[in-house]
Amino acid sequence: METIGLSFDIEDWFCVQNMKDVIPFNQWNQCESRVYENTEYLLKTLKKNNIKATFFVLAWIAERIPELVYDIASDGHEIASHGYSHSLITHMTKKEFQTDLEKSISILTNLTGKPIYGYRAPSFSITRETMWALEILKKNGIKYDSSIYPIKHPDYGIAGFQQDIHEINGIIEVPLTTSTIYGLNIPISGGGYFRLYPYWFSKMMLQRQMAYSRPITYFHPWEFDSGQPRINLPWFKKFRHYVGLEKNRNKFEKLLQAFYFAPIENIIRDHRMNRGQPAGPMVFHQEVAY
Ligand SMILES: [Zn+2]
Repeated sequence: METIGLSFDIEDWFCVQNMKDVIPFNQWNQCESRVYENTEYLLKTLKKNNIKATFFVLAWIAERIPELVYDIASDGHEIASHGYSHSLITHMTKKEFQTDLEKSISILTNLTGKPIYGYRAPSFSITRETMWALEILKKNGIKYDSSIYPIKHPDYGIAGFQQDIHEINGIIEVPLTTSTIYGLNIPISGGGYFRLYPYWFSKMMLQRQMAYSRPITYFHPWEFDSGQPRINLPWFKKFRHYVGLEKNRNKFEKLLQAFYFAPIENIIRDHRMNRGQPAGPMVFHQEVAY
């Protein structure tokens, strides 16, 4: 059965790249944390719909709210890494990236008691310039990466990058989904794009794309929180962060009923088996029914 890979990047509203200039990392501790309640909404909604997903958890959050990781894991979802400090790989040296990744894996492994196989870079910051990161991921036991957006974008993306799941430098890459309309390659993976597009458009594009590849979607807990503090940002950053928050729960809940969803590790396994490839090098730590 055709399914969509469902994933969440678990971070608080103030962790995003958009806020970096006004709320730097060393001020995070002073901000009102809302990630626990927002993630609990997601867990409750997924449970109601009998859906399992992948949660790329920012380890800075996991360190402060370990019960959040326990709640996600005990509902049978896949836990993966979103790094520790949400620093963009494009702003880090190889050494700094290695340290950030190691720290995140160690925190998440200690909390879950299981190895961490999946990784998503903050703001999709694996680009042509930072492809070296894949090598470091592999060295640290990561089996798949879901950080490359095959689009042209001023802050991230690799235009023309292969769209479907494939192996690159010994890592399985699960690119974020794009689709072509009137000759334009547009992102249809979720996040801000899902908040921006009308619901029918996102649904239609995902449906269409299924004929060509296995779509992957992503969302953030703060995208479902219309009561979060409003920060004075430049207009385009403000738009990017706050557009469509009010209607997002409703749209998301409709989407969950429109398709079948599964954690990314299941999507990879099905993709490989459909091609007659063994499921390895992935060693799936759980069987999720969907
Ligand atoms: Zn993030």
